[in-house]
Amino acid sequence: MYGGRARRGAAIAAVLLMAGCAAEPARQDGGAARESGAAREPATADTRTPGPQGVAPRPGEVGRIRASGGLPPVVSSIPTRRKVVFLTIDDGWEQDPGFVRQIREERIPMTAFAMRDAVEAEGTPDQSGGEARFVGAGKWGYFRQLRDAGVPIENHTLTHPDLSRMGYDAQRREICGASALIRKQTGARPTLFRPPFGAYNSGTLRAAGSCGIDAVLLWTATVQPGGKIAYQVPDKRLRPGDILLMHFRPNLARDFRILVKKIKRRGYELGDLRAYLDAAVRPGA
Ligand SMILES: [Zn+2]
Repeated sequence: MYGGRARRGAAIAAVLLMAGCAAEPARQDGGAARESGAAREPATADTRTPGPQGVAPRPGEVGRIRASGGLPPVVSSIPTRRKVVFLTIDDGWEQDPGFVRQIREERIPMTAFAMRDAVEAEGTPDQSGGEARFVGAGKWGYFRQLRDAGVPIENHTLTHPDLSRMGYDAQRREICGASALIRKQTGARPTLFRPPFGAYNSGTLRAAGSCGIDAVLLWTATVQPGGKIAYQVPDKRLRPGDILLMHFRPNLARDFRILVKKIKRRGYELGDLRAYLDAAVRPGA
């Protein structure tokens, strides 16, 4: 929370981003999915200090995200010049145990946006990364493992609708319903919300605020199968403060390893999103 009832106001103008998540057509890669050696990871002795290891902002580093009208700000990137990016992951279809191990053992900072129907494996899973093997395998238990590995479990609706086409009450049912469920299942009520497809309207912001949401999170780049980064900007480069969007897809552990190496090779650190948001959306600012 932003120090209680912080003023948050004018939503940062959000570019309507290319739809991620289940909007992408499922693609069958054919052939059995191979898991890249998750079982061969070294058993680390005692690195299980709870909480993410992401870098925190230095004093004065972060620019201000302005908000108005008491509504949660819409955030698609963090205003900073530091070479830091933020990892987020959506939905919850493919519950690869190797991914949780990576997060826990390497203490990688990550924010998850859980969607009920994906977590509970209702509907058509996202198989764009290949053949799915762990669809809904651990249901909410998988998200409790992520929570225990230091990952905040945030809100991504119950059924993944296009909220921009829905009325206020229906949006509120999707957002408040998901927050109540996540609180019941993980013990913590979400404070961040990500609208499916990045689609929202003013009713979404009002509904989210009424459900206890502090900020609406979009993204600046998506991570594709193979760890490839699909940028929203023409120059195809990571930029300081970028928020990256991934999905719980088949081969996630392997793709994620590639992605983290790529980010570090380019000289970027992984940031603690909550700490940066708290610095950017300052009480009384
Ligand atoms: Zn989604």
